[in-house]
Amino acid sequence: MIKYCLLPLGCQMNKSDAERIASVLEAMGFIPTEVEEEAHLLGMVACSVRQRSINRVYSKIQKWNQWKDKRALFTFISGCLLPEDEVKLAPMFDLVFKINELPRLPELMVQQGVSSPVAQCGQLPDSYQDDPEKGFWKIIPRYSSSFQAFVPIQNGCNKFCTFCAVPYTRGREVSRPSAEILQEIQVLISQNYKSITLLGQNVNSYGLDRVGQELTFAQLLEKIGQMGQALQKEFWLYFTSPHPADMTPDVLEVIARYPCLAKHIHLPLQAGDDDVLRRMNRSYTLAEYKEIVHNIRKILPQATIFTDIIVGFSGETKEQFEHTRVALQEFRFDMAYVAQYSPRPGAVSYQWPDDVSIEEKKQRFQQLTQDLKAVTLANNQSMIGKIHRALVEGTDRKAGYLAARTEGLIPVHFPSLDSTLIGQFVNLQIDSVTPFAGAGILM
Ligand code: SF4
Repeated sequence: MIKYCLLPLGCQMNKSDAERIASVLEAMGFIPTEVEEEAHLLGMVACSVRQRSINRVYSKIQKWNQWKDKRALFTFISGCLLPEDEVKLAPMFDLVFKINELPRLPELMVQQGVSSPVAQCGQLPDSYQDDPEKGFWKIIPRYSSSFQAFVPIQNGCNKFCTFCAVPYTRGREVSRPSAEILQEIQVLISQNYKSITLLGQNVNSYGLDRVGQELTFAQLLEKIGQMGQALQKEFWLYFTSPHPADMTPDVLEVIARYPCLAKHIHLPLQAGDDDVLRRMNRSYTLAEYKEIVHNIRKILPQATIFTDIIVGFSGETKEQFEHTRVALQEFRFDMAYVAQYSPRPGAVSYQWPDDVSIEEKKQRFQQLTQDLKAVTLANNQSMIGKIHRALVEGTDRKAGYLAARTEGLIPVHFPSLDSTLIGQFVNLQIDSVTPFAGAGILM
């Protein structure tokens, strides 16, 4: 048995890419293992967007290369890499390839002199290789869950936020053909998947690179909604990460029409001050963001709204930070992922002074987290005494409990030892809440 071990770093998109790499490797005859020490093939799906991830790549490859003295080993790296990282890492790995070259992986491995026992493995089906550029999306992934799936619909980004390196690692936006997306989703629904998330760096700009030739994002959601109704299966469809500039009312109106389109919107705010938003190149003002939140509350009154906020961005004054605090109070988010700004190599703002001290960033982070807890606790209190449908995701950290999430992605747990409920929908009566979760009993 020739085993492979894959290490995806970074965001959900890389994890989704890793599912397709796994599928190719298994078509070649490799067997998965999570134990690096017993693998003959070690691969990384790396992320240049965070320095911490790149540091991890260097420490792993040094260790892996030491093992080569003792056994046959082939190493590769792919993923979301800046061109300069690719150049630096190339001499350390046996193979570096761009993720859209995945259908050619067997051929690339042979070109790089892959040796026994790896060479004993088979080849990919021809169907993966007939169109190497578009072939990547044709690969049927080896989903890592039997009830939750992530479906890439778009790659790359045209927004060029100044703090982000993604447009330089993944390039410009390319939309996946809608026929392929719908086919993948139809199979998932038929196989009783309960939670399906459409993935893209800028997911709701879907179709804008092929206006008139491809569906818009709202039309894509409409097709999925119709499919959900026709197949009469219960599932929730999510999408991440969207950009506020493309969160148009027609998208919200489609979500309102179909029960399978989850009533949950992730709407990254990043900052609550117009000058900071402008320097981040976010392409919306606070007033425009407010209008979108107003539309969500009007069209999808039951939807939860999550957000992302960066504190301590280059040049952010105390007063500008206070504007973000006010925005958080006003928008009553159900969750905010708050990050302390750190310059990302490759991003425009990497050249700018990182002039908010570490202590000040930490203090702003703590202040905003404290504000957030008060807001989310008040939001979650409205769940008490009500019955909520929830998808059971696994066992909870608390012994004797199972962990689930509501349609709005609020974590809830309940006492149960019945592991057959994992991957199923349940009804829970919520009897207590904390700022970030709820607890209930099975109805
Ligand atoms: S929208 Fe902005 S933050 Fe999101 S991937 Fe594009 S550049 Fe990065």
